[in-house]
Amino acid sequence: MTAPAANAPHPSIRLYRSSVIPAQGFIHGFPERTGGVSVGLRSSLNLGKRWGDDEANVATNRRLLAEHAGYDPQQLVATRHVHGTNVWRFGEPLADDAEFDGLVCDRTGPVLGAFAADCIPLVFAEPEARVCGAAHAGWRGTVGGVAKNVVARMVELGAKPERIRVALGPSIGPECFEVGPEVIAEFSAAFGAVPGMIVDGPKKQHIDLRVATRTQLERAGLLPEHIDDRPPCTRCEGDRFFSYRRDGREGGIHMGFIGLA
Ligand SMILES: [Zn+2]
Repeated sequence: MTAPAANAPHPSIRLYRSSVIPAQGFIHGFPERTGGVSVGLRSSLNLGKRWGDDEANVATNRRLLAEHAGYDPQQLVATRHVHGTNVWRFGEPLADDAEFDGLVCDRTGPVLGAFAADCIPLVFAEPEARVCGAAHAGWRGTVGGVAKNVVARMVELGAKPERIRVALGPSIGPECFEVGPEVIAEFSAAFGAVPGMIVDGPKKQHIDLRVATRTQLERAGLLPEHIDDRPPCTRCEGDRFFSYRRDGREGGIHMGFIGLA
């Protein structure tokens, strides 16, 4: 994590950033919840429209964030996420109601957004091929393989898996992610026995989505040291992040963003 720059235009906006993403050649970040205009449980930098916030507030928040981070708000690429595994490549035809949980891009200008509130927003960077990617991965997307699908589409654009860096953004931690036995069974079927992926909780078993994501990415050829899987927990840190498990649909949505600089 880095401190806000001294010349940040909106000092109340804070960005969580990962050192695994090269500072040169990319812009990226995971905004915390402060510095926006939404109210109540969506206070204040709510970036998502789906759960009923005033669209003007969301537009203002997206503009404030873009000004703070240094990109054109018109260049934010936001696709509808559906807990799926499809990945869109910038430049392909895109219907207004298109549903993609993953995005890749090899052009300067567009900024890819991965929206989430407990699910993992992932950002991907390949500095030599100059390709970036983003994904939204909850448990269904993780089991389905959306992260490895992003890697595959980056490879189509010239990326090499051993050069791809991935940061997992603020998301629900294993201590907070209690699930039912049917979810446990899905992870076991998808990944096999992975140490630390299924952990015992006080009542039920929990899933560590970060362990599952790291496993998937390493199996796709990424180097262990190129994966940052130690983000803060959204449910535990209510003064910094939105959380669906904590606040439901009255709460807000944040995002991870990345673009080529
Ligand atoms: Zn937690």
